[in-house]
Amino acid sequence: MIRQSQKNQSLASILMFVSGFVLTGICLFLFFRAAPVPTLKRNVVSAQVSRSDTIVKNYDITYPVFHVEKVDMILRNYATHQVDDFLHKLGIKKDDPGSNITIKYTILHYGTRTTTVVFHSREQVVNQPVVESQKMMTFDLVAQTQLDFSAIFNDKKAAEALLARILHDYFQHDTPGVLSSPELVHLLTFELAGSRNYTLDDDRLIVYINPHQLTSTEGIVPIAIKKELLVNVLKEPFQRVDTSLVQSVVEPPVYAIETMPHHEVIIDPKGKLLALSFDDGPGSLTPKVLDVLKKYDSRATFFVIGRQVLPFATTVQRTVAEGNEIGNHSWNHPKLTVLSYDHLQQQIQDTQHAIESVAGGYTPVLMRPPEGVYNGAVVSYLNAHGLTMQLWSIDTLDWLNRDSRVVYDRIMAGAADGRVILLHDIHPTSVEAVVRAIPELVSQGYQLVTVSQLHQYR
Ligand code: ZN
Repeated sequence: MIRQSQKNQSLASILMFVSGFVLTGICLFLFFRAAPVPTLKRNVVSAQVSRSDTIVKNYDITYPVFHVEKVDMILRNYATHQVDDFLHKLGIKKDDPGSNITIKYTILHYGTRTTTVVFHSREQVVNQPVVESQKMMTFDLVAQTQLDFSAIFNDKKAAEALLARILHDYFQHDTPGVLSSPELVHLLTFELAGSRNYTLDDDRLIVYINPHQLTSTEGIVPIAIKKELLVNVLKEPFQRVDTSLVQSVVEPPVYAIETMPHHEVIIDPKGKLLALSFDDGPGSLTPKVLDVLKKYDSRATFFVIGRQVLPFATTVQRTVAEGNEIGNHSWNHPKLTVLSYDHLQQQIQDTQHAIESVAGGYTPVLMRPPEGVYNGAVVSYLNAHGLTMQLWSIDTLDWLNRDSRVVYDRIMAGAADGRVILLHDIHPTSVEAVVRAIPELVSQGYQLVTVSQLHQYR
């Protein structure tokens, strides 16, 4: 719905121009904080850019006048700069009748403290495609400054983290399937600086973003976030109810976030990621591993043996419910390379069906061949049936050395970002080692994730 105009020098000059006001604005903001809110004239009028120094009239640019001196100056300067830039682009063909620019504005919100204006621009330079773009500007009417998005928050980093979390959780839980995992990760790198499109409503912050590609203005959706969710990060003057005089004239927000973000582990792809994997279960010791994972907000992957699934059905259900991953480890642990096609199929599919039937349709996507033994036939069978073969990067040899200190030391020595560690949740020594290792790994900054989660980022 919105086209990004091509990069031009005008944008850079406007940004430099505007940033000067933003810096001034911070000082003014501090000054005005203590001052009483002045009564504002509420009659907005439209003004038109009209220049006497040029004979060219192939532009039609209007902007609002709020009778707030410095805000009006910013808007007037913005509008006149658009004419300058347009004429600059035309060069010597200034009077070409095929070239023209039209800029209209809409007031999205007009309150006692803030207002948001959006300029809609349509530009035609002869022999070039029409470029349509949109520019949103929010002003602090009391401080008389343009309000950079980051200027409405106390702590930029905390605000970025909170908004990223709210957006991530919202799209993951309330609109499942709308965004892919990499797109969700993109939301975690939400940067205030890259987002100028927002409105501060009476009780909501509305961000206009493209959730699929945060830096693009194409496919933008308005997302409303209740101010209650932002109470710890919004600067005090913007927390107050801002009685609107002019109601929004655009469509209501597509998504309204009106609940608290879900509390679950969000992966920071910039941090260290480690995937613990457990083979040959489920068994009677598996719940001990699940307990410690849960206690430390961690996840792991369990490559289960098909015939164990039904006897330990509740353990399998709990494993999935707590966000862990289940992989296929064959029905009864044969060497897959010696099997006929039919037997291979049976080993894999019987296990898939067992897991699906006890875990509410959960379908594993990873398969680890017993003993890590495979050949081309095994790999092509798995690939043809929606499974990816998954080995490991660190083998603790915990089945051989039944000493929890040895296993613990191998886990800690093998831990590194991006690695997959092989363990077995059927040996008491392994489980003991894991119960000690998980808190230690977490305290060293590791995010313990599933193998599939690891693949999303590494
Ligand atoms: Zn095994």
